[in-house]
Amino acid sequence: MKTNLKLLLTILLTLVLLPFAYSQSNNNLRVVRGKTDTVTTSNHFVVGVAAPGSNIYINDQPVKQYSTGSFGTELILREGDNPITVRATLGATDVSESFTVFFKKVPILPRVDPITFFPKLVVKTKKGAYLNYGAGEDRLGGAKINFLAEGIKMELIDSTKNLYKVKLSENSYAFIPKQFTEKVAFGVAPPYSLTSSWSVSNAGKADRVRVSLENRQPYTIHRELDPNKLIIDIHGAACNSNWITQYLDLKAIDYVHLQQRASDVFSVIIKLKEAFSWGYTVDYVGNSLDITIKHTPEAIAIAAKPSLKGLVFGVDAGHGGSASGAVSPSGIKEKDLNLDMVFMLKEELEKRGARVVLSRSEDVDVAMQERLDIFKRENIDLMVSIHCNAGGNPLKPMGTSTYYRHIEYRTLAEVILRRLLELDVTNFGLVGNFNFSLNAPIEFPTVLVETLFMSSLPDEVLIADPAFRKEMMVRVAKGLEDYVKLVKKGSR
Ligand SMILES: [Zn+2]
Repeated sequence: MKTNLKLLLTILLTLVLLPFAYSQSNNNLRVVRGKTDTVTTSNHFVVGVAAPGSNIYINDQPVKQYSTGSFGTELILREGDNPITVRATLGATDVSESFTVFFKKVPILPRVDPITFFPKLVVKTKKGAYLNYGAGEDRLGGAKINFLAEGIKMELIDSTKNLYKVKLSENSYAFIPKQFTEKVAFGVAPPYSLTSSWSVSNAGKADRVRVSLENRQPYTIHRELDPNKLIIDIHGAACNSNWITQYLDLKAIDYVHLQQRASDVFSVIIKLKEAFSWGYTVDYVGNSLDITIKHTPEAIAIAAKPSLKGLVFGVDAGHGGSASGAVSPSGIKEKDLNLDMVFMLKEELEKRGARVVLSRSEDVDVAMQERLDIFKRENIDLMVSIHCNAGGNPLKPMGTSTYYRHIEYRTLAEVILRRLLELDVTNFGLVGNFNFSLNAPIEFPTVLVETLFMSSLPDEVLIADPAFRKEMMVRVAKGLEDYVKLVKKGSR
């Protein structure tokens, strides 16, 4: 209590005496900045204070004085000694102060990187590169982590038949197909980066997060649904981000955050506003990691009630041309049924006001990459791929199934399956983490519909009937309507 009283007294005394101290020093000329003995830059600031209303001169040049009494100027120094005189006049008073600043020109030396010879092999990614979790293989290839941008260097740890095992960070590795890599000159080390500032902005039809790095580091992408988050782990990077600019007109992003998960793994955490996702991209622009997150299509966002009106659907007919797909016991080819069904689906979707982009509209070969390129070019909102299944017991109805790869599109596959099951067909199931290449894109939602089994005699009867095929496509369209309703509602 006693101490507090003492403190209070001191504060009171200071408050009473402060105006006197201030006005007293105000009568004098004081140079508060610029009286440096030696400087290494030619641009030099001189700042001072004198009684308000004075005329101020620095080296005989008049200088503006502000209402507070403060004044300042910028001088360009010559190499060597620079005499500086500051003068203030007010009525009969004429005060001045002189000092000398020595400008020492420092030669700019070229930056020399320390010589580091890296004694292991390093590979660099080419266009189309992707990471696999393991060396496992199945009919459609091993389980993918995600695609990687071009020009990312990684240390090579091991080599299997057609895969390299590469080091991502101190405690993690992955596998990459050899065809998507090239060797880097021996001795070059894999990159390491300190992260720098971020910007988070609205780029029109998508929100954009840009994280500055010193090099192109490998990254792995993760999703969390509840709450809806996109997480990107940047390997070989340490946090030095002390500045995250976030604009307030963001539509898809709620907020961004970061976490240093391991000493060399830096996580970019993006919390999304909506429960449903419409795709995103991850790429490098220079050495900055550039992440864009699509907004909910305007057709849904602005519509008073949910409908397919104004949406753009990519509809894919599996196989085609030399690729027949499955062939039924009676000789019906899957590619023909698929093509027939996409025209039926197109009609149903157009009837509901949507626009449809087909990956093929005749019996021709179209490569998977080409199908993706068509859909990306047309900027579709959502993709549906139509196939028929094969395998299993030929004497039993095997049924219908839908497939997704990314967890955020599980609901999409589920609502379509539920509609298909309104028909008298067997439930073959909802299949997740499926490695079909048209389920792999992250740029838009995708779903694969395996209508019925070509190889099942009871299923063959149904799928051979155009009226039944039409019924199935009506259900797919209704499933898509259900999906838009959930999006509009905002919860799955
Ligand atoms: Zn197929």
